[in-house]
Amino acid sequence: MKVRLFEIFTSIEGEGILYGTKTLFVRLAGCPFSCFYCDTIESLPLDSGTEYEIQEACKLINSNLKKQTYKVNFTGGDPLIQHEAVAKLAEYVQNKKILTYLESSCFDSNRFNHVLPFFDIIKIEFKTKDSKFVDSKHYQTLIENAIECLRSAVSTKKTTYIKIVVSSKTDVKDFSNLIRNIFDSITKEQIDGFIIQPTYGIKEPSLELLLDLYDIVYPYYVDVKVVPQLHKFIGAP
Ligand code: SF4
Repeated sequence: MKVRLFEIFTSIEGEGILYGTKTLFVRLAGCPFSCFYCDTIESLPLDSGTEYEIQEACKLINSNLKKQTYKVNFTGGDPLIQHEAVAKLAEYVQNKKILTYLESSCFDSNRFNHVLPFFDIIKIEFKTKDSKFVDSKHYQTLIENAIECLRSAVSTKKTTYIKIVVSSKTDVKDFSNLIRNIFDSITKEQIDGFIIQPTYGIKEPSLELLLDLYDIVYPYYVDVKVVPQLHKFIGAP
């Protein structure tokens, strides 16, 4: 089996509930979607990066693993594009007793369920309509898949949190419907965090809008937090 990796590097986690932790990032090549705020555009082509045999990629991970690394993030592109290879690589990392972390748009619950056993920490990302991830015709299917992924993750008692990127174009009513949909599917006790992440440098949401969005989540989940991508403030990748 082969895998296409775009890059592999150690940095400081700048997003989500584990921001600040020393992390090895394994960036998979390939993502067919089109979020307007995507900050890894170079890794989107399915033929970007370099192709490795799985054993070679495991060796590469091993040689890049620095001491006292808290976790290994599988990111992209979208790691579910190469789900079979990602499962193998994550299993390799787990066997080294290092935490594995999945960052995906959760667009396909079957692929998600294939990799789930090999991940300890799951970020479930819900895309808003304005993200332009998919066209409006396919948006409902995307959300149904993400909800299914969320249900799977919490049912296996993985550390699971939700992230939603918001912009100045995020519609309050659509956001509200999305949040109701999420908390109709799980209980607040089943998740370990809820992050609203404002876009940075493009269509940034106003403070007023962020407060409105925060207020929508709060009745369901009081520990909701608005957290920007912190690594950008220290010039980290
Ligand atoms: S899903 Fe992620 S990698 Fe793909 S276009 Fe959106 S932001 Fe970029």
